Amino acid sequence: LLSDDGQVRPTIFAEMSALAASTGSLNLGQGFPDEDGPVEVTEAARAAISEGHNQYPPGRGIPDLLSAISEHQQRFYGITIDPDTEVLVTTGATEALAATLLALLEPGDEVVTLEPYYDAYGALIRLAGATHRTVALRHPHYLPSHADLTAAITDRTRLILLNTPHNPCGSVMPVETLEHIVALATANDAIIVTDEVYEHLTFGVPHIPIASLSGAAERTVTISSGGKTFNTTGWKVGWLSAPSPIITAIQSVKQFLTYTSGAPFQPAMATGLRLPDEFFTGAADTLRAKRDLLSDGLRAAGFDVSTPSGGYFVIADAAPLGFTDAVDLCRKLPELAGVVGVPVAAFCSEDRAPEYSSLVRFAYCKRTEVLEEAAMRLSRLG
Ligand code: PMP
Ligand code: GLN
Repeated sequence: LLSDDGQVRPTIFAEMSALAASTGSLNLGQGFPDEDGPVEVTEAARAAISEGHNQYPPGRGIPDLLSAISEHQQRFYGITIDPDTEVLVTTGATEALAATLLALLEPGDEVVTLEPYYDAYGALIRLAGATHRTVALRHPHYLPSHADLTAAITDRTRLILLNTPHNPCGSVMPVETLEHIVALATANDAIIVTDEVYEHLTFGVPHIPIASLSGAAERTVTISSGGKTFNTTGWKVGWLSAPSPIITAIQSVKQFLTYTSGAPFQPAMATGLRLPDEFFTGAADTLRAKRDLLSDGLRAAGFDVSTPSGGYFVIADAAPLGFTDAVDLCRKLPELAGVVGVPVAAFCSEDRAPEYSSLVRFAYCKRTEVLEEAAMRLSRLG
């Protein structure tokens, strides 16, 4: 995890945000919104601080948030979870992932993820001493083939780590793929961990939590967080749900990672999760328009664009513009166009990175005027 000169190696997101700041470029690199989310949620956090919710909350999370998470799973997906025994509040989805992998993996175990994969997955699997195997997602649909999934499973597979909607590819797993994964996990007695932080941000296709499929809940850890849904990425409130014995194992690790998570943000997240349906559909519709705006701009600029079905990001192939090395292009983009993006190779293992070498990930979770300006600037590339 250290760089060659012994320093903390900055993540690609930190590196690209720093580049955007130092060059005054538009930051379509790191995935965070540039405006606040629902006022009910931000007001609820202010009220919680004023009302004195400023000391350690319970280790599992405050009862009101545990109930709100349980109600949310029931309301949107028909999933029944016991708020007292089957939910754990964490410091973002990142801590949920860390505590889950550290709790469930032994050195030598194998973990299967999709590839490209969110950078924390690779680092956490290494921290847990496990072996990382991957299944490639390819243009244009970025969905795993059933044969590749089957081939990735061995008798050492302990865990299948899924991400839908997917970062960075924007794919949303269809029910047939999820069923295949449940069948594989069941046959090999593997645990499914599913990262669903973009669960409410899909465009015309449903988000299907794998835990809602028959036979899945008993072996599934479902992870989400409020950052993307409520434009509060800096609050770091996440959660997970799983069968009670798995929650106990994960909490036993969480208590020594952070002990508890941000007291005043927890009631605010409970408020958010109880907002009416119109809030959630409105958030997806607004983001869909932003996706279209940036995708059209990238196409007009000469990129080959795969339209994402969910999440914050669009993948653009720079090869038609004559750029085959996206790592190099992303370093030069501030100068060439005043825009920052992230090379997709940063989400890949060294072995597979060459397959994705001309692809750039751009975030469209930004204000309309920022996206319009970015499209205009990128049009100068051609
Ligand atoms: N998983 C995915 C797929 C993500 O894109 C992110 C980052 N936004 C996270 C997990 C981390 O979420 P959090 O900020 O809640 O820790
Ligand atoms: N999830 C965000 C992204 O993919 C950033 C998170 C981070 O900076 N670690 O851009």
